[in-house]
Amino acid sequence: MKQEVYLAGISESDQTRDVKKKIARLFDTAGLAACFAKKDLVAVKIHFGEKGNEGHIDAGLAKVVSDKVRAVGAKPFFTDTNTLYSGQRANTHDHLMMAAQHGFSLQKLGAPVVIADGLKGQNQVSVPIEGGKHFKVVRIAADFLVVDAMIALTHVTGHIAAGYAGAIKNVGMGCAARAGKLAQHSDILPEILEEKCTGCGTCAEWCPEHAIVVEGGKARVDESLCIACGECLAVCPSGAVKHTWGNKSTVLNERMAEHAWGAINRKTDKCAYVNFIIDFTAECDCMGKKQDPLIPDIGILASRDIVAVDHATIDIINRHAGRDIFRELTPHLDYMSQLTHAASLGLGTLDYELISL
Ligand code: SF4
Ligand code: SF4
Repeated sequence: MKQEVYLAGISESDQTRDVKKKIARLFDTAGLAACFAKKDLVAVKIHFGEKGNEGHIDAGLAKVVSDKVRAVGAKPFFTDTNTLYSGQRANTHDHLMMAAQHGFSLQKLGAPVVIADGLKGQNQVSVPIEGGKHFKVVRIAADFLVVDAMIALTHVTGHIAAGYAGAIKNVGMGCAARAGKLAQHSDILPEILEEKCTGCGTCAEWCPEHAIVVEGGKARVDESLCIACGECLAVCPSGAVKHTWGNKSTVLNERMAEHAWGAINRKTDKCAYVNFIIDFTAECDCMGKKQDPLIPDIGILASRDIVAVDHATIDIINRHAGRDIFRELTPHLDYMSQLTHAASLGLGTLDYELISL
């Protein structure tokens, strides 16, 4: 059965207040209020943006959604998990400070901000997974298992390791505890191509785990420290870093889908998804730098089906770009595998009906 996906298109002439009105209308038209009951504790899952990132969802736009959830009588709070890498969001103290700097504070939002996996990312629950291809158990941040409902607000981007970052990644990677993130990333390690390496040190400067040293004019990766985040691949100016994705890109995407299952399968009827195709960039908001958008802003999508909303998002972006922009960015990655695996796990359907407001 086709699932409904709603699109609120935006144009260059839209002011922020126009976009806010469109988000409110999108929430109503898509019937998202039906996911929430009075007094429900509702996780508004979002990425607050790494230090220096400017593409993350604007706090003022996100507030429109939490205000709508509150209007139902529910209790929304903004949330994410601590990162695997040691940036500005690796523990709850730093994470909350970073979120506040980007406008996500109780004072500005009228809703609290909660980091879902504890002060040092230690609070997790092991969730047995039915039909998992890669895991029998996935490790999810504890608070996502006790919330009554969730609405995932996703800034859609390309992705260096997955090929596409949308709602499934926001939930699959973003609701995973640190152990769950590590389990998804493991075994995709970088290799330095010595013939191309100039010894410039850029990768060592950016590596969040200090896993790279430059010795004798060549970079070297300490695999015992590497968390396979892919940042060295993204920043090397000489194309000297190679990740042997091969089939492993499918593995990462399927692992992400299995963690998404662990986070939401017990409450799929209590979950909603809002995808922002605004400031569409090649890499995700974990990149602590300004990135130029690759296409003009398109709009915001909403659905109660996590697979349908991502499929519609991909189709719309590629249609506007006039090409498969995800494959162009990362030709070696099979980005659709995260959607097909999520569908096979019963999280949603690839069949959607697009309804434009
Ligand atoms: S950024 Fe690239 S060229 Fe520079 S040291 Fe690292 S691997 Fe070598
Ligand atoms: S993938 Fe590269 S940047 Fe990331 S931890 Fe490993 S060596 Fe460092």
